[in-house]
Amino acid sequence: MIKRLRGTYDVLPQDAIKWQYVEDVFSVILERYGYREIRTPVIEETSLFTRSIGETTDIVTKEMYTFLDQKGRSITLRPEGTASVVRAFLEGSISPDALTKLYYWGDMFRYDRPQKGRYREFCQVGVEAIGSAIPALDAEVISLAMCLLETLGLKDLKLNLNSVGCVDCRRVYYEKLKDYFNSSTVVTMGKLCPTCQKRLEKNPMRIFDCKEENCQRTIEKAPTIAESLCSNCTLAFENLKKYLSLLDIPFVLNTRLVRGLDYYTRTAFEITYEKMGSPQQNALAAGGRYDNLIQELGGPPTPAIGFAMGMERILLAMEIAKVNIPTGKKVEIYFVSLGEVAFQEAFKIIDRLRRKGFYVYATTSGRSLKSQLREADRLCVGYTLILGGDELSRRVVMLRDMENSTQREIPLKDLEDELAKL
Ligand code: ATP
Ligand code: MG
Repeated sequence: MIKRLRGTYDVLPQDAIKWQYVEDVFSVILERYGYREIRTPVIEETSLFTRSIGETTDIVTKEMYTFLDQKGRSITLRPEGTASVVRAFLEGSISPDALTKLYYWGDMFRYDRPQKGRYREFCQVGVEAIGSAIPALDAEVISLAMCLLETLGLKDLKLNLNSVGCVDCRRVYYEKLKDYFNSSTVVTMGKLCPTCQKRLEKNPMRIFDCKEENCQRTIEKAPTIAESLCSNCTLAFENLKKYLSLLDIPFVLNTRLVRGLDYYTRTAFEITYEKMGSPQQNALAAGGRYDNLIQELGGPPTPAIGFAMGMERILLAMEIAKVNIPTGKKVEIYFVSLGEVAFQEAFKIIDRLRRKGFYVYATTSGRSLKSQLREADRLCVGYTLILGGDELSRRVVMLRDMENSTQREIPLKDLEDELAKL
């Protein structure tokens, strides 16, 4: 038998309800904050990702699903959403002057090591606010992320915050980092992993994001970006903290937070849920500013900020927090019919009721009364309608309330009106 691929999963009907619930809650809140949905393709030209995410990142060096198409073009299944949204923003000539707020849902693909909360095909919901560098916007975006998660009933979330500076701050900082990693203190701790040795030359800050134990040990004593921030970045960071305080949003400064994508500038943040267990998989949301990305992808200089959340991890967190998912009140009816003649009549009525908005389930073959009622029980419907030859000849149908086991007859001509009152 063919099995699903490693690192992928199926959402079975009982779980699809949970996904739909999160999607419903989120879309309402996203719209309230002024975001509009954007949908982009799952496949893109590979260079879109290598140019934006960065040549030395984990994603680009080892996690992308890349293949050549029939004409030999290099195509990649998107590993994240921002690059595609920016490409669409530029290609769709969305006005760069006004602040553009976009959100997306979608499957992302990364050749990650599969484990709980980490898949090779996973779903992210994300936002991008394009067109403003004002720190109040950063605070608003972070507040939105918190609001989304808190509205689901998740508490004790931790907001980790850092500023990764701009190109100027990093020029200074990279030199300090290179000195540190080449110093005797580090060298005696053992070698950096081969990937990080390359990173040391090209992008030493990337070493912070390495998951190798030895590399992790060496970064503990590394100089932090905080001391290298230029005056503009320092001011922006102070303002962001001020605005977060105005919104009563607590945060923890984490100078080692660099995020796994190269395009971030200034604000970088991550929202973690510590009850999730493994610190490797406890980030529910992550994001930051990317003030240079749009220009790097060929657009006019346009500052922007965004975040992405992992749906699987959110659902896992909801399970751990024992969040109750409210089941929307809808009238569900099982239609029992007995005999071919009644079945034909029921067949017509059922179709009419569904078109009027009722949730009607029924069997398609002439099964016994007992077996149909058993099916109604299994589906946990609130009501059953029973139509036999006798009822049909009197133009009535039996309505049974499954909860208190009472039943009454309803004239067929009044059926819709009566059901509407349930
Ligand atoms: P991590 O350090 O956990 O690998 P990342 O830095 O690669 O995360 P981002 O690219 O910023 O993560 O993605 C944002 C969010 O998407 C993460 O916080 C997480 O919730 C989710 N996510 C990332 N990779 C995966 C994955 N392989 N499976 C499931 N969810 C993921
Ligand atoms: Mg990752």
